[in-house]
Amino acid sequence: MASVTIRGVRKSYGDIQVMHGVDLDIGDGEFVVFVGPSGCGKSTLLRMIAGLEDISDGTVSIGDRVVNEVAPSKRGVAMVFQTYALYPHMTVYKNMAFGLKQAKTPQDEIDRRVRAAAEVLQITDYLERSPRNLSGGQRQRVAIGRAIVRDPEVFLFDEPLSNLDASLRVQTRLEIARLHRRLKSTMIYVTHDQVEAMTLADKIVVLRDGKVEQVGAPIDLYERPANRFVAQFIGSPKMNFFAHKDVASASALPKSVSVDTQIGIRPEHLVVCEPGEALVSGRIELVEQLGEYALVHLMTSNGTEFIAKMEKPPVEGIDGSLSFNVVPELVHFFDVKTGLRLP
Ligand code: ADP
Ligand code: MG
Repeated sequence: MASVTIRGVRKSYGDIQVMHGVDLDIGDGEFVVFVGPSGCGKSTLLRMIAGLEDISDGTVSIGDRVVNEVAPSKRGVAMVFQTYALYPHMTVYKNMAFGLKQAKTPQDEIDRRVRAAAEVLQITDYLERSPRNLSGGQRQRVAIGRAIVRDPEVFLFDEPLSNLDASLRVQTRLEIARLHRRLKSTMIYVTHDQVEAMTLADKIVVLRDGKVEQVGAPIDLYERPANRFVAQFIGSPKMNFFAHKDVASASALPKSVSVDTQIGIRPEHLVVCEPGEALVSGRIELVEQLGEYALVHLMTSNGTEFIAKMEKPPVEGIDGSLSFNVVPELVHFFDVKTGLRLP
């Protein structure tokens, strides 16, 4: 196990800079998730930790050793890729044993480790099969097994669940969470899926355009997003944003609002109320009935669209009006120009 320390890390491909100075402290045994939209630099940052990409500037340390110039195989990391990257002509057993064999590990030690990992991942029955004859989920377990046998100080996962169908994704996500609890290793996990980030992470790092937007525990990012980007990225459906003129009784808010203020309210925090007590009101445009709850899409008289998450579809129906209130502590305030959270 080891900590990972990233200081002033930049990455350029030719003239194009894609990482713009990243600083991060990843604790020993922590499960850290890099999340952000496609192209924001998650894989690039992970690959620089793995040693698969050169670091243009700054340092990456694993434990107390700067590893910028250390070969990938000597960094004590093991990586799991979205595409599994298994050798098609080798059995599952040989795929899992390959790295250890390369490292000249004694045969009985290889056998012990492969069987132990297979047991954990419940793939013992497939050890003699070719990856070709496995489902996507089974292949991904083999790829995870191949990482486990190397007993790395740091596990690196790059969108490992993206090629799996929805139910398998949920199941494998739980298995990765269990694996972390069991191994207590440092894990760095890349995803564009905020649900994976929220459920797996001790700490989430939100990236955007090669910069860190916010670092924090999942619940902190949900409750106190540092800016509008994080506010919209964490939480589903996304946080609603209102202009000051959308808000009826601004005097009820804990902060004075002006044209320079944007008001953020999560769909799950809007509560139906009498028109006279409304903070925001809207005309119903669409209702998505999801059984467990309904997502009601509305528009204010000012033309701002928003979503309310309700226990049941409203009796008012399409084109009906609804009024909402919110507990004042659950209202977020942002600067219209900078997008930053107002203190
Ligand atoms: P993510 O994993 O978050 O989707 P990446 O780390 O793959 O994003 O990419 C970050 C940025 O770097 C993107 O703009 C991408 O186009 C660029 N990039 C990645 N690899 C290369 C490369 N080999 N050459 C040039 N640009 C690259
Ligand atoms: Mg990527």
